[in-house]
Amino acid sequence: MGNNETHDFFETIFRLDACNDTHEFLDFVQGQRHSTPDLVSAAAQLLAKGRVRSAYILAMLLGKRGQRNLVMSIALSAGGLIFSNTIEENNGLQFLQSQVDALPVEQQQENYDRMIAPLVTHLWACSAGKADPERVLRILQPFKAVVPDGFDWRAHVCKLCGGSADYWFHAQILGKHRVAYYLCDQCDFLFTEEPYWLEEAYAGVIGQQDVDDKDDRDGVARTLRSKDFVSMLLWNLFDAKAKFLDYGGSYGLFVRLMRDEGFEFYWQDKQCPNLFARGFEAVEGDRYELVTAFECFQHFADPMAELDRIFAQSDAVLFTTRLLPNPVPKPEEWSYYALESGRHLSFYSAKSLRKLAENRELAFLSNGTDTHLLAKRNIANGVFKGLSQWSKGHAETA
Ligand SMILES: [Zn+2]
Repeated sequence: MGNNETHDFFETIFRLDACNDTHEFLDFVQGQRHSTPDLVSAAAQLLAKGRVRSAYILAMLLGKRGQRNLVMSIALSAGGLIFSNTIEENNGLQFLQSQVDALPVEQQQENYDRMIAPLVTHLWACSAGKADPERVLRILQPFKAVVPDGFDWRAHVCKLCGGSADYWFHAQILGKHRVAYYLCDQCDFLFTEEPYWLEEAYAGVIGQQDVDDKDDRDGVARTLRSKDFVSMLLWNLFDAKAKFLDYGGSYGLFVRLMRDEGFEFYWQDKQCPNLFARGFEAVEGDRYELVTAFECFQHFADPMAELDRIFAQSDAVLFTTRLLPNPVPKPEEWSYYALESGRHLSFYSAKSLRKLAENRELAFLSNGTDTHLLAKRNIANGVFKGLSQWSKGHAETA
């Protein structure tokens, strides 16, 4: 096949797959003598997108041609399980283990990340109906060399809403730890497994300027913008004479700037020393009109406990954290996963925050990208009215 024809072939495969028209798809793949490598490559790409049905059809077609390879084995075992064809399922499983074992570990990992991880939730969802989790594990287990010892692919409990959170993918953190991420099927909150690498992730950060920190928590330009924005908010919508707290206040630059503006701001941070706002550390038991938290929420290993701590001190929190895009990006597709630093653990979708607000009987306002407010409902009405008049066009309320 020439280059153009190859291009047309893939384009047609993906177009027909997206239409969910099995007949047309079958007509096309059986109708002409497509090359075996093209069919295998198409099956691999479809698996990577979680499109099991089409990959399964291609694998059966390749099977009729007497082919046998890893992509086919994955497609047949997963497709056979999902579409209740035990014969094809066993055809796939029969060679899966030996085909995986024949690969060097790096390639096992590559195949796992590309084709298996995107399938795991489909497989669990389908096995739930069949009440047969062992069949899912038979497909996953050949890859156990590329997940940490004793790793369990089963669902976890969502740290935010207590719902069921599916295993979503593995990503390499700090260039060496294979860390699992879980996505809540009720609130779309994505979180890492229990972090054991934090000491390493924060080594060299505490007590010295962290020039490499991509979060830029103390970035001067960012802090100046926040100062203007928060000042305007406080003058117009809160009691500007009250006390305020910057939670996770980093080196204290924001607190210092706000104090220079005339606001009674205090500082609190477990990870950072206070350099710019000495003498204005928060006092245990004090109450604040508003808590601010810039680029902190994604660092929380236990977001609910942190929220408890925040709401013990105030009735409202204004915070920044980037919303998790939909669909959930793969590890290499979103820099906010901060895999090199290993310090981002929690990723909130708009739905996560809306549900969180609902569960805690809070009001929620967001600019839809990175700036959000959670507040007790009794104080929220006035603030929200002011805010929505102010930021018309790109705000959403719940
Ligand atoms: Zn949840």
